Amino acid sequence: MNGLVVAGALYVDLGDGRESSKGDRAGQIQWRRLPRARYECLRCRTTETPNGNGPGDVARFVATIRTSHTCRAGQSRAA
Ligand SMILES: [Zn+2]
Repeated sequence: MNGLVVAGALYVDLGDGRESSKGDRAGQIQWRRLPRARYECLRCRTTETPNGNGPGDVARFVATIRTSHTCRAGQSRAA
């Protein structure tokens, strides 16, 4: 362990998509189940979800939520 305090739980569902290999939609991904993500902060008990439902929205959410989450737990306790 590196001493990092785990303050939240990030759940990621990568969904179920497959890339079309033929036809005029070749190269596009067809989603049978879209990716989803959810972040639950263990300190302020807030659940955050992506702003959109697209794979790009979910990927951006996963990459940034730990820093973009505004935690309310520390605000009332600190100073
Ligand atoms: Zn929080």
